[in-house]
Amino acid sequence: MKLNWNKAAKWSRLLILVGLLVWVIYESYMHQVLGGGKAPSIHALCPYGALESLYTLLLTGSFIKKVYSGTVVLLVLTVALAVLFRRSFCGLLCPFGALQEVFAKIGQKLFKKRFIIPQKIDGILRYFKYVVLVFTVGMAWYYGSLWMSPYDPYAALGHISAISGTIAEDPLSIIGFALLFITIIGSFLYDRFFCKYLCPAGAVYAIIGKLSPTKIERNDSLCVHCKKCDKSCPVNIEIEKQERITTAECINCNDCVLACPVKGALEVKVARKTVHPMVMVVLVVGLFFGTIVTAQLTGNFQILPLAVAQGEVIPIYEVKGYNTIEEATTLTGLTLDEVYQQLAIPKSVPKDTQFKNISVLIPEYKFDEAKANAGGSEGEATSGGASTPGTLDVSGIKGSMTIQEAMDSLSMESKDFYALFKIPDTVPPQTILKEITNVSPGYDFQQVKDSLSVPSSTETTENTSGTVDVSGIKGSMTIQEAMGSLSMESKDFYALFKIPDTVPPQTVLKEITNISPGYDFQQIKDSLQ
Ligand code: SF4
Ligand code: SF4
Repeated sequence: MKLNWNKAAKWSRLLILVGLLVWVIYESYMHQVLGGGKAPSIHALCPYGALESLYTLLLTGSFIKKVYSGTVVLLVLTVALAVLFRRSFCGLLCPFGALQEVFAKIGQKLFKKRFIIPQKIDGILRYFKYVVLVFTVGMAWYYGSLWMSPYDPYAALGHISAISGTIAEDPLSIIGFALLFITIIGSFLYDRFFCKYLCPAGAVYAIIGKLSPTKIERNDSLCVHCKKCDKSCPVNIEIEKQERITTAECINCNDCVLACPVKGALEVKVARKTVHPMVMVVLVVGLFFGTIVTAQLTGNFQILPLAVAQGEVIPIYEVKGYNTIEEATTLTGLTLDEVYQQLAIPKSVPKDTQFKNISVLIPEYKFDEAKANAGGSEGEATSGGASTPGTLDVSGIKGSMTIQEAMDSLSMESKDFYALFKIPDTVPPQTILKEITNVSPGYDFQQVKDSLSVPSSTETTENTSGTVDVSGIKGSMTIQEAMGSLSMESKDFYALFKIPDTVPPQTVLKEITNISPGYDFQQIKDSLQ
């Protein structure tokens, strides 16, 4: 039996799209169940996240939260695909495009027709995705975070299995779920509704795709003007009226070519060479998965947070919502009782509970607040009392507050607050304190807060100075020398001076900042004296 390559091209494109949609939904579900350390989040799998991270990456060499090297690989790869084969990511690989095609097919079965928005309105609306692109990238670069996340219908799709928890955590995410609902309803009636009007990633590929040598070409001398190509196009391009389809709207699905009844009347051309749609599928899919497999084999495709190395410990405020209380003991080196105590977890909560689920058992429990307070017991002890005259009580400042909220609560001028908390001037006041590290890597809000809290507690100062006299420790000493002069264990010394575990003991104290930017030996020493 002779293989029908046209049918093979049509069905393989649809199967790949639906397969990727199912896989992304599965991974997102597993992310909710197992947590971010074991299954990737939908953000890590979206190339647009890497574009949102680009400014921070170029400026600081680090990614914004939830974006990893694998996300950047996806961005570079999809941009390369756009240069070579126009918006073929949209036509052949995008899970959100697949979702729209699935609902469009159901809608066409139900209504027996494709609805089309009047051309004038449609033409104007298509520019809206470029506005969304400029706005969302601008906001993400300004704030150094995935600013769009709560409004993103694709992110909402990834959180659909945890809809109530997601809205409880961030009420703005209801907008993302509403946009997802609108996209699904819109797709019932209009093909690729979100792609045509709203998708900022599609806008990027559309602009870059203009450089591509890939085009659809119609041979007028063979064309019988049946308009089957027009009827098959999911983005409503009027193919029958043109000889070369150069519009940025074409998603390289090649449905028009496959629908054409006359051989040679409508063809895909790459640099003027005819390419069969099945070959296009093989090229695009091969390049996409081939690059990902190569990146994985060479260790350049990270889509999960790095696991904590064996023997290493992290501060309690760095445990994640997907960790269980019991896991936190291994991660932090604390006992179970200490974890319960430092994160103020009621004893009735079982130890195998994930932190993010404690609020399901104890609704008033706020994990982020507990983390922000962790280690701040001195502050809590003084929070009910009056501040020492001439000093500021910063115990009420939580990591979950924005800079603006914190300034307001202390009634401080912006300049003074930035100086007190050592926040770089470039960080916008809408930034959440504990997320400043995304914009200014190495900045550790909790560490700065702790250094401001210690001197305000007379009791703590007395305890510290009564136990360890650090006045003889000089910045020119190595860690090893300093430990020796205090006769301290390495673990205790690192904890006392808040030195990251990755810093070798041969490092000169005042040079730790070269390995761990933001670390300020003198400031920590001062806080201990
Ligand atoms: S326009 Fe956006 S949602 Fe549509 S296929 Fe392209 S990237 Fe996906
Ligand atoms: S012009 Fe052809 S290849 Fe382009 S989107 Fe329309 S049907 Fe697909």
